[in-house]
Amino acid sequence: MTGGQKALIDKLERQGTLSRDEFQALLDFRTQESAQYLFERARAIRHAVYGHDVYMRGLIEFTNYCKNDCYYCGIRRRNRQAERYRLTKEQILDCCAAGYELGFRTFVLQGGEDPHYTDERMVDIIRAIKTRWPDCALTLSIGEKSRGTYRSFREAGADRYLLRHEAADARHYAQLHPAELSLENRKRCLYDLKELGFQVGCGFMVGSPYQTNECIVEDLLFIRELQPHMVGIGPFIPHHQTPFAAAQPGTMEMTLFLLGVIRLMLPGVLLPATTALGTIHPTGREKGILAGANVVMPNLSPTSVRDKYMLYDNKICTGDEAAECRMCLQRRVESIGYRLTVSRGDSKIEA
Ligand code: SAH
Repeated sequence: MTGGQKALIDKLERQGTLSRDEFQALLDFRTQESAQYLFERARAIRHAVYGHDVYMRGLIEFTNYCKNDCYYCGIRRRNRQAERYRLTKEQILDCCAAGYELGFRTFVLQGGEDPHYTDERMVDIIRAIKTRWPDCALTLSIGEKSRGTYRSFREAGADRYLLRHEAADARHYAQLHPAELSLENRKRCLYDLKELGFQVGCGFMVGSPYQTNECIVEDLLFIRELQPHMVGIGPFIPHHQTPFAAAQPGTMEMTLFLLGVIRLMLPGVLLPATTALGTIHPTGREKGILAGANVVMPNLSPTSVRDKYMLYDNKICTGDEAAECRMCLQRRVESIGYRLTVSRGDSKIEA
């Protein structure tokens, strides 16, 4: 490793950020050796803040209807081949009940932007979950809404919100999304959510079409500015029924490197080792944890709908029951010397 890389990594650890040029150099001139050093530092920080605990979140993919048309996403509106489904409130509660028995204390409701779930219906579902399991955290991941809608979700008891910013460079954002979606509104949502008291997660895909290291530097600077509680990053993986069907997937190498960088930037951040990372490599999630990640999100969706929430091709775990997913992840986490914990797993960052 060159002295320059080590100095940059040490500086990032000390200051929590770098200048634009320094971030650029860190990415452009990274090597296997500098990555190993980065992961060692990321693990040291993660152990100081979170020990060897890995938090789990039960992911409930409750609808794959979507009014948006993001070019990368398999459940985009214009994918007429996607077989659409919605879960009823009772089905969602059944998933939570099964998850609770398995030790989950955070539920994540994720879906496309589906107008069927009006504010009123969402508020009813949120209240029902929080009334029945007051000791659990509830995370929503259902896209862009007005500030008033976010406020009603918060008042109904939702604790956290995941909304990946997807691309912090406006030009790159426009290359991934149709004109009716804007980076400006995406950012507005994130700031609204934060002001309303949600624990907020942003994030982006690694290796999405047209992404350059310049784009990633912009993503890192935005993360620095927003100071989120959570950051979701995973490799882009093409879906065969999208405009990006023939695009190259993102690499595990770059994804791991960025997990390490983000851990150094935000020591207390909640950083998932994502399903997409597990999809591009059989032990991708384990490697993610060893690069600084501290969260896993096993699937609690009913097996009958699992294979329909296809954001990208070859998604793993589509045939497994919730209990199998949980036990499989527990084995994986323990195989590298960590442990899954039964807790809400709140962020240790002061909001
Ligand atoms: N509708 C919600 C949830 C989106 S799905 C929202 O707008 O936030 C969750 C995440 O999956 C997205 O934010 C996106 O970053 C990721 N994703 C979508 N398509 C993908 C693909 N082809 N490869 C990898 N990740 C993808």
